[in-house]
Amino acid sequence: MQKMISPNISNSMDGFLDNNHRIINYLRLSLTDRCNLRCIYCMPEEGVSFTPHSEILSYEEILQVVGLCAMHGIRKVRLTGGEPLVRKGIISFIERLGYIDGLEEITLTTNGVLLKEFARPLYNCGIRRINVSMDTLRPERFRHITRRDYFDRVWRGIEEAETVGLNPIKINIVAMKGVNDDEILDFARLTYNKPYHVRFIEMMPLGERNIWNPEIFLSVEEILARIRCLGPLRRVDSESLDGPARRYILEGAKGEIGFIGALSHHFCEKCNRLRLTADGNLRGCLFSDHETDIKTPLRQGKEDSYLLELIKDTIKNKPEDHGINIYNLRKCARSMNSIGG
Ligand code: SAM
Repeated sequence: MQKMISPNISNSMDGFLDNNHRIINYLRLSLTDRCNLRCIYCMPEEGVSFTPHSEILSYEEILQVVGLCAMHGIRKVRLTGGEPLVRKGIISFIERLGYIDGLEEITLTTNGVLLKEFARPLYNCGIRRINVSMDTLRPERFRHITRRDYFDRVWRGIEEAETVGLNPIKINIVAMKGVNDDEILDFARLTYNKPYHVRFIEMMPLGERNIWNPEIFLSVEEILARIRCLGPLRRVDSESLDGPARRYILEGAKGEIGFIGALSHHFCEKCNRLRLTADGNLRGCLFSDHETDIKTPLRQGKEDSYLLELIKDTIKNKPEDHGINIYNLRKCARSMNSIGG
């Protein structure tokens, strides 16, 4: 395996520090803006224009950027999109990522449609933890939310992931009043019999035609209050590279329940994330439209030291706070599939 990193940059494992003294060690890497679902809160049903392939970073280009990031403190990479499993050659790409010095963990977020075929190859190339987005346990409702009839495929994908040994399998649920909130207890009960980590996520005001409104929004406090009727919840501590979820276990359960209060409980003061969009822009914050184009200098053949300065600048200027809450909504210019969820 050829090393993509030029040797003239000192191997600093210190980590990137932003202007707010946060250590940035987690890169969310979007591989594509394409997706095989059309979730009602994420993408329009028709007329989506995708980035032409020539404008998407090649795997070689991504490896070069990740290599630089890993030399300076990025320890964890999450592959996302769009749907990362629709991008051709993803398995050999992950194998190559695995050779990058300094990376401690590579994970993936998927909608699970292709997971049955990919679970074993993912495991074999070193992935151990995955997130699967699934907002309902009901096939009919799945068709309504995703506008596709793939419930069985996703469920079989999750079971296959469990069979091959991916662990934990996190199931991400965007909680929406009047859409799937009557399934909160079903998801929580799932953890009695399955080792899955179900994680309820507050709906965020992203995307051009997003359907966010105060009537559909459900806070994690409300969800937690509903789940308490099942019995005592024991708090679980987070590990260093873990995300912002508050984690709990129901008595006697095999799995966990997590809550991500992106709007009601800002976790910005602990945010350790940097993002790289599929079309080659660095982003310090999901909600900030400020981006740094790294693709152009990459394609101009600029030195790694130049690219590194761009990465450092993006991190230094990472917004202190996303500034969005249920009373102060600001919609982002790009949709979740094009930023990388
Ligand atoms: N295709 C992959 C998947 O389904 O997990 C990765 C990309 S998807 C955009 C990442 C996550 O973003 C999914 O869990 C999805 O439910 C979530 N998401 C998209 N739009 C959202 C919104 N407006 N609010 C909250 N979560 C959202």
